[in-house]
Amino acid sequence: MNIVEEITYSEPLDHYLKVLRQKGLRLTPQRTWILNYLIECDGYPSADDIYRQISTVFPGISLATIYNNLRMLVEKNILYQVRIGTTYHYDFQGHQHGHMICGKCHKICDFFPEHLEQLLDSAIRQTSFKLTKATVEIKGICPSCDQTM
Ligand SMILES: [Zn+2]
Repeated sequence: MNIVEEITYSEPLDHYLKVLRQKGLRLTPQRTWILNYLIECDGYPSADDIYRQISTVFPGISLATIYNNLRMLVEKNILYQVRIGTTYHYDFQGHQHGHMICGKCHKICDFFPEHLEQLLDSAIRQTSFKLTKATVEIKGICPSCDQTM
């Protein structure tokens, strides 16, 4: 019996699988699982976190395979990678959102930039670059850390 066929995936995943196919990526069961995990996950798991979860479904998968898949999904702008300390954390980049990162406890809050288009406009106008990817990352101190300072 093939364990992979028993896994059911959500609607948004179907859409992004199509995007991946259009970008010419092979959809291995492991890759599909990782993508779905990050779509459904509310947090920002590290490769180790993902490894622990996926090992229960695909026993014997290597950490190197996880890293290869994550790197590839980041390169294709499907995932967003944020470095916290010495570890990379991952998030699904399905919608344009910004990240506010607490410099003290490293909590990450999503926010929706209201004038992102104007920002991109001026970036393009001032540099003549062709836009390939935009992420907004702002560091600060979260309200609960602020209270204990
Ligand atoms: Zn904090």
